[in-house]
Amino acid sequence: MTAGGLSGGLASLRGVGKIHQAQLAKLGLVTLEDLIGFFPRDYEDRREAKPIFQLIDGETTCIRATVAVASSGGRLPGGRPMVRTRVFDTTGMLNITFFNNPYVKNKLIPGKEYDFCGRVEARGGYKSMVNPEFEPAGGNKISGRILPVYRRTEGVSRNLLMQLTRQALDAARGHYLEPLPPALVEKYRLPPPEWAYEHVHYPETPEDIHQARRRLIFEELLSFCCALQFLRAGEAGETGQRLSIHDPEEFFAVLPFSPTAAQKRAVAEAWADMCSGRRMNRLLQGDVGSGKTLVAAACAFLAAQNGKQTVIMAPTELLANQHARTVCELLSPHGISVGLLTGGMTAAEKRKIKAGAAAGELQVLCGTHALLQEDVSLPTAALFVVDEQHRFGVRQRAALGQKTADAHLLVMSATPIPRTLTLILYGDLDISVLDELPPGRQQILTYVIGEEKRARMYSFLEKQAREGGQAYIVCPRIGDDGAESGKKAALDYAAELQRKLPALRIGLLHGRMKGTEKERVMAAFSEGILDVLVSTTVIEVGVDVPNATLMVVEDADLFGLSQLHQLRGRVGRGSRQSYCILMSEDPSEAAKQRLSTLARTSDGFEIARADLQLRGPGDFFGDRQHGLPAFHIADLAGDMRVLQAAQDEAKDLLTRDPRLAACPLLRKRVDEVIDKTLENALN
Ligand code: ADP
Ligand code: MG
Repeated sequence: MTAGGLSGGLASLRGVGKIHQAQLAKLGLVTLEDLIGFFPRDYEDRREAKPIFQLIDGETTCIRATVAVASSGGRLPGGRPMVRTRVFDTTGMLNITFFNNPYVKNKLIPGKEYDFCGRVEARGGYKSMVNPEFEPAGGNKISGRILPVYRRTEGVSRNLLMQLTRQALDAARGHYLEPLPPALVEKYRLPPPEWAYEHVHYPETPEDIHQARRRLIFEELLSFCCALQFLRAGEAGETGQRLSIHDPEEFFAVLPFSPTAAQKRAVAEAWADMCSGRRMNRLLQGDVGSGKTLVAAACAFLAAQNGKQTVIMAPTELLANQHARTVCELLSPHGISVGLLTGGMTAAEKRKIKAGAAAGELQVLCGTHALLQEDVSLPTAALFVVDEQHRFGVRQRAALGQKTADAHLLVMSATPIPRTLTLILYGDLDISVLDELPPGRQQILTYVIGEEKRARMYSFLEKQAREGGQAYIVCPRIGDDGAESGKKAALDYAAELQRKLPALRIGLLHGRMKGTEKERVMAAFSEGILDVLVSTTVIEVGVDVPNATLMVVEDADLFGLSQLHQLRGRVGRGSRQSYCILMSEDPSEAAKQRLSTLARTSDGFEIARADLQLRGPGDFFGDRQHGLPAFHIADLAGDMRVLQAAQDEAKDLLTRDPRLAACPLLRKRVDEVIDKTLENALN
């Protein structure tokens, strides 16, 4: 961001010793540039002092008041030192107590005015503050201004960080360079870098914060979007195995149903890629039940017609099993052989499959993602299909290494992600969308109910079973794992339900069961031998049993909306009316509101948008595994509009100047982003 001279270490700053250096390093702060780029995560507006009269219990605020009496020192029974004093302004009195800080006694001089900031307690007519920060009135260090709030770490106080960022900013003054093209600075009316860095740390008004952040966020997102474009351009140039085209009707004609227009389009797009001589990098996005598997099978068909192998990877054994079954049904009429490899198989079984794959006898190999870690040899692999993976872009591809050197890649996802985020997560992929469900699917009636209607839910469950339907009941956890008690556990639940409803045939499925066991239960459910399947979220993705008509989710408020939408997608696959019942004990308005989104709409994209807004991108994609880049200042949920603009501008910029020759500083940033991205991919 600046011209030379600031890459020096922090040792040059006043107030930084060895210990502080180590503590600051924990925050990633090693150079002056790091400090300048260590943005506050929030702000505290302390510009106004409040009259004592107006103070409310529990609020954190500032007052300006005169010390009324000499402070009295003392000790609590436990030996902790304590200092008490009393202050006043023209509107009232306030008691102040300090613990563990005997020195304040000499700092507060009766008759003098100070600014105090802290949490107010107001009880029974008395107002007080405990351990407030204070300074002589008008000192403007801790009051009378907007203060930055930094991420904290052991031993590094706000005070220290403020001292240090102040020094770093002073040292940088006059050295800032503009990385953005002047046209963009003008178009978006962005403040200059020096102003932005100064004011993001030390704003005078809320508007300053807004303007400073706007510039820095734009800069960050633009660099990121340019990096994605570069990566993508690199990929696009890579050669892939050139397959020869076939008549798709040969594949479609043998299907048990006619493909939707969206499926036909997606197949045409993927086949065109595979026959182009360039490597296919395609994301197939479609809501649950839109029929993505068929598109994958069609691509495997084309590969097989060309004498090539396909690998289909799923996140769970359950899904890998199902894929093997479905794909086998779709491809065996064409004489294509399909095999399955999962972690749960015996060594002998695995050896047999691997031998078949190595000999080229197996044309399609289904398995879990772990499959890739295994030493599977696929002499003629031309296509990798990755199913139900939230993210699979350049990074994951890099991790696959040689296996996919010139093989085509089809990534399938049922998580409907807003377009802007798709570009962030899969910016390097082309996208096909299945925006149409197979005909005859009906609306799944969705209800949010509380504990008081549990009995009714059970009788509804019985009724469904009597009428020949089947039900899933999803619990948030498996068994009594102690820490998470309070949530419904599948193990106990299944036993309890069997006692309550002895007539029903109830099965149990969870992630800790052995692969073969899971398979047995799942097979029993899909053959209709079980009426009810009590399960954890292992059935979340992909599982397909057309006869299932009821989905009950216990403690539904513990799940994300998109996840619930996925769960709901397990029913409504046949011709019968299907239902989804979301049980929730959380009576809060927020929880009800959130869940009612699902009752209102079945549009996965709308649900994803709501989810993203409510929970933020981190939670949306599930903890740390979301694969989203760590931004310094941008926030993907909040800064969606800027992201959109940055994407458009990056595209525009690179069309006119593909190497960013005219913006060397921006280019440097973009290279840094790329390095970091690839680095993350490899560990
Ligand atoms: P998803 O996109 O969720 O992976 P699947 O591929 O599992 O969806 O398909 C869901 C169900 O729809 C399957 O039972 C499949 O056989 C069926 N299906 C797929 N395409 C069609 C179609 N064109 N017409 C009717 N049923 C279809
Ligand atoms: Mg699927």
